[in-house]
Amino acid sequence: MISEIDRCARCGFCEAVCPTYNAVRMRHMGPRGRLQMARAVLDGGVSSRYVVESLATCLRCRACELVCPASIRIVDAIVEARKRLYARA
Ligand code: SF4
Ligand code: SF4
Repeated sequence: MISEIDRCARCGFCEAVCPTYNAVRMRHMGPRGRLQMARAVLDGGVSSRYVVESLATCLRCRACELVCPASIRIVDAIVEARKRLYARA
């Protein structure tokens, strides 16, 4: 999953269609930011309220995946990272 996340070109196309990003305009509340949060968690990095807020608020609508030119399974990455976070709690 981490190698897939690393295919992210940070183009930002996904942010334009993400409802949570468009609601608050904060990077950690959109797919691009969530992917990097997920990467940190899956890589064993520290968790914080900021990370939990980012990953827990994804609606799993998959609008981001429809426009991602790298075909990254964004929701799968977020869900996997969520599970890892909750397992640590
Ligand atoms: S659309 Fe895909 S490649 Fe572009 S920033 Fe979003 S996740 Fe990364
Ligand atoms: S699946 Fe999550 S990150 Fe992707 S567009 Fe929907 S709310 Fe945003």
